[in-house]
Amino acid sequence: MAAQSCLFVVSAPSGAGKTTLCRAMLRRFPKLAYSVSYTTRPPRRGERHGVDYFFISTEDFRKGIDAGAWAEWANVHGNYYGTSLRQIETNLAAGRDMLLDIDVQGACQIVEKFPLSITIFIMPPSLEVLAERIRARRTDSRAVIARRLANARREIAKKDCYRYCIVNDRLDAAKESLAAVIARHGGRNRKAE
Ligand code: ADP
Ligand code: 5GP
Repeated sequence: MAAQSCLFVVSAPSGAGKTTLCRAMLRRFPKLAYSVSYTTRPPRRGERHGVDYFFISTEDFRKGIDAGAWAEWANVHGNYYGTSLRQIETNLAAGRDMLLDIDVQGACQIVEKFPLSITIFIMPPSLEVLAERIRARRTDSRAVIARRLANARREIAKKDCYRYCIVNDRLDAAKESLAAVIARHGGRNRKAE
């Protein structure tokens, strides 16, 4: 029954390891659907349209706002990001659990619309480690990194609004913690693998 499927909403400051952890969960739970967001930010090296994001123009994003296409949307680090309402409805109607990798503004909007969502905040071990991880990723300019670090403090201040908080210190331990949350709340509608 569609009402039993679950939205897992994962947020974290940029660089905390959310993408790494979400990818690991999609491998571990093959029937978990990933919500591919729409964004106006340019693709990073290796990112694929329709897989990592749908990369669209600001004009098209605004049209989506007017058309009510977004389950939630926000301006994050100077770019628009939005979750497709149709993707959510299609997956929930099919009884599939979904994983949403979205920022704190978006998470609040999703919880308002889908109050049974399970929210998970991923914390870096420290702000110093966070800065080091963003630099080591080598995907962002110095200006972009500075902006993301400034936003990190504001995002971390919201962590208590989340049902679960997982510190991504040792990657393997963080994966196990996140997998335990998904296994606990999800999967009621998945057929046997
Ligand atoms: P986010 O999606 O939150 O911005 P990423 O998943 O891109 O973060 O991770 C940022 C960088 O930190 C990547 O280079 C990733 O390989 C690395 N990383 C993620 N988790 C850990 C961890 N527990 N220990 C060390 N490095 C990590
Ligand atoms: P990045 O540009 O590093 O991929 O993502 C930047 C931030 O935007 C991250 O915090 C990520 O979770 C968030 N984000 C990605 N997609 C969405 C979305 O659809 N909605 C919202 N509100 N935030 C998103």
